[in-house]
Amino acid sequence: MSGQTLQCAYCGAALPIAFYGVDAWRVGSSFVCNEFCADGFSPSISEVKATLEAKRDSNEFRSLSL
Ligand SMILES: [Zn+2]
Repeated sequence: MSGQTLQCAYCGAALPIAFYGVDAWRVGSSFVCNEFCADGFSPSISEVKATLEAKRDSNEFRSLSL
């Protein structure tokens, strides 16, 4: 789990880690690498966010049912 890397929610590029955290733009609850990705990512944020939440919910349900 410690090797987890953040990726741009729009283009998928790895986000650089700075000493204070992740050097990235934040759009809602997601991160993108620059203002251009933020601009392109914004219109579909609700769709992507819903997908991520659905995935997380199904994972929790699986671990609970074990
Ligand atoms: Zn990007």
